[in-house]
Amino acid sequence: MQEISGLDLADRLRGEMKAAVEERQAAGRRIGLAVVLVGEDPASEIYVRNKQKACKEVGIVSSKISLPADVAEADLLATIEDLNQDDGIHGILVQLPLPDHIDKDKVINAIAPEKDVDGFTPINMGRLLTGGQAYLPCTPQGCLALLEEAGIDLAGKKAVVIGRSNIVGKPVALLLLQENATVTICHSKTQDLDAELADADVLVVAMGKAKAIKPQQVKDGVVIIDVGINRDQEGRVCGDVDAEAFKAADKTCSLTPVPGGVGPMTITMLLKNTLAAEAAIFALKEGN
Ligand code: NDP
Repeated sequence: MQEISGLDLADRLRGEMKAAVEERQAAGRRIGLAVVLVGEDPASEIYVRNKQKACKEVGIVSSKISLPADVAEADLLATIEDLNQDDGIHGILVQLPLPDHIDKDKVINAIAPEKDVDGFTPINMGRLLTGGQAYLPCTPQGCLALLEEAGIDLAGKKAVVIGRSNIVGKPVALLLLQENATVTICHSKTQDLDAELADADVLVVAMGKAKAIKPQQVKDGVVIIDVGINRDQEGRVCGDVDAEAFKAADKTCSLTPVPGGVGPMTITMLLKNTLAAEAAIFALKEGN
């Protein structure tokens, strides 16, 4: 089994980004990302901390806006509008999930598309669907970067995606299609998952089920991107793929590890989108 490391690629890309940021800083440009966090969900706190740490590494200035769990929806929307208008902010990210009393879609819709570095606004999603210039959602973009790094030519390949969420499954399927793969999307109502998996050349698993995919379900030579982040029975972080069973079976395949696969790439693509957003806003200001 060959491992496709996200850490190595993320390290390399972040090094390149750091150099790009330094160049812009030398020209007096400052790149700003705002992260809005509502409430005190411990997992969200960790995600936000990791994102801010990565920003610091490459020289992006991140500001965290913490709002109480009972913040009124109107106040959250007003905060986003302020950030939309703030010239020092080039990317806006609202950490999900949001409390139940807040309409998540309304909040995402409020982010200016040119600052939507998560790629979740309907405008960016629509551009992705129609093949226009979009900020691509970070996790799907990271999956494609890993496939590219592994040297996989997707044209004509049979790609299977397990999962159809708006943040992973659907956009990753669209990106695979853009690369000319023949794409099948599976979900919990798929009747015969094994039949769909049997002849997959490429498999992207985003189902959120610890160690669900076993080596006997896929053919030799398959390339697997494991998006899942779960805890196994011993409380250890694991993916949706049973990596230990793949190793034990000495399966001929390529697989991203969890942790150290898609996770670091997701944050790296957030940095990439933020840099792109600053460049686009700068060019617009300069009249280019
Ligand atoms: P969702 O829960 O929104 O989606 C899960 C999808 O898997 C659904 O479409 C569901 O089908 C499908 N599914 C569930 N069980 C089965 C099954 N037995 N057979 C086939 N399909 C099934 O999750 P997300 O897309 O948000 O995330 C997926 C995983 O990826 C999670 O573990 C999450 O933690 C992880 N993740 C990792 C990221 C990273 O940076 N590495 C970023 C984002 C997510 P249905 O639609 O019918 O319910």
